[in-house]
Amino acid sequence: MSKKVTSAKSKEYMERFYSGLQRRNPGETEFHQAVYEVATSVFPYIADKPHYHEKQILERMAEPDRVIIFRVVWEDDEGNVRVNRGYRVQNNNAIGPYKGGLRFHPNVTLSVLKFLAFEQTFKNSLTGLPMGGGKGGADFNPKGKSDAEVMRFCQAFMSELYKHIGPDMDVPAGDIGVGAREIGFLFGQYKRLTTQFVGVLTGKGLEFGGSLIRTEATGYGTVYMMESMLALKNDAIEGKTCVVSGSGNVATYAVEKVNHLGGKVVTMSDSSGFIHDPDGIDAEKLAYIVDLKTVRRGRISEYADRFNATFHQGQRPWSVACDLVFPCATQNEINSEEAHTLISNGCIGVSEGANMPTEQAGVDAFVEAKILFAPSKAANAGGVAVSGLEMSQNSGRISWSEEDLQGLLRKTMTDIHDQCVEFGRESDDYVNYLKGANVAGFVKVADAMLAYGVL
Ligand code: NDP
Repeated sequence: MSKKVTSAKSKEYMERFYSGLQRRNPGETEFHQAVYEVATSVFPYIADKPHYHEKQILERMAEPDRVIIFRVVWEDDEGNVRVNRGYRVQNNNAIGPYKGGLRFHPNVTLSVLKFLAFEQTFKNSLTGLPMGGGKGGADFNPKGKSDAEVMRFCQAFMSELYKHIGPDMDVPAGDIGVGAREIGFLFGQYKRLTTQFVGVLTGKGLEFGGSLIRTEATGYGTVYMMESMLALKNDAIEGKTCVVSGSGNVATYAVEKVNHLGGKVVTMSDSSGFIHDPDGIDAEKLAYIVDLKTVRRGRISEYADRFNATFHQGQRPWSVACDLVFPCATQNEINSEEAHTLISNGCIGVSEGANMPTEQAGVDAFVEAKILFAPSKAANAGGVAVSGLEMSQNSGRISWSEEDLQGLLRKTMTDIHDQCVEFGRESDDYVNYLKGANVAGFVKVADAMLAYGVL
């Protein structure tokens, strides 16, 4: 008969678990960080549920099902042979086929992809759709490459990856550095190699099986999450000053949705620095940014030359006073000091569009200050939710209308919000969305794993 685990025992289990994780995965700091964040919520929750301890459920979730690493060889426009490293981390398929994006960026490492695949497992669970967690990519930098070079790289990458993916096995999507252009090249090569037209990638063009609103979904969903958190406190986005980082896919549609809801966005950024426009980045200025970043592939500083704004080279926007924050660029872009600066400048809410954009000490600062804080696995799940709907449309050979999909996205984000409230409400009524998201995401995957026995 199982016994209840005392809180001292639970702490001891947590310490043993975490030191084992560090020992088995040396130097993988991002992966350690992501697992630690989840473990701090899950261990207290399972203290009186010993079956999860006995079956080593969190230990099994933090050991990927498998990791595929491969060489990618391609030729640049000058005829030089170039070599990159490709990866696919298949973390957990307890509740559905592996699902998660591909990232092409020079700082891609196994640690980064293991953290992303682990996070994805919980995020996908929160959407309520049957999707497991995976992530992949390469240390390839698409910046400064011609379209022909990007195409040759994508074809070489898919020439290995196609052996490990499939519509019922593993369905990748885009992420940093992998947008519509790259997905087109990747899907074309998959189709050529397998002679099959199937839903093996999401984020596809509308002409070849893509879904309406997939492009907008992550950014919109991140703002819907903030809207739901504010609504619970009888507040709204209208009239709020917002700080956004990034100027890619997620940032763009977060800004668009904040504008729709009557807020004012005063910053955006890229890896060279940030622009501050106190008048607000309206629809016309946002269209300029989209053209700059997706067509001309230029730097954000050009915005400051064009409009009445300042450019802050090499800096992040967290010193700008605001009500709401949407980090939408990359991991660990808010440190502890910056989190404290945001709080003391009056920030009342953070909704994470990027994956794990806040360092652990920054997360702790937001939660201790009891401001509204939606962690990425909840806040940015709208994108993968619409990807899940793209998979359903592909397998049913149907296309849903924009109106239907907008409604489904809105409902998914509300459901995620409500799950966080259910599992995260504390005795003083503060909703700890971090705890709520971690525990709600854990339970569904854990119960499926228990049902399968010891595997
Ligand atoms: P994009 O490639 O479209 O945009 C990324 C943005 O972040 C660019 O502005 C880029 O600047 C900036 N950036 C990238 N790396 C750094 C860095 N090291 N320091 C500062 N800025 C940086 O990516 P997405 O918008 O798709 O993704 C952004 C984040 O959202 C990522 O964390 C991703 O994992 C997450 N996400 C994305 C989803 C999606 O649907 N696309 C779904 C869920 C999460 P520059 O132009 O200079 O490179």
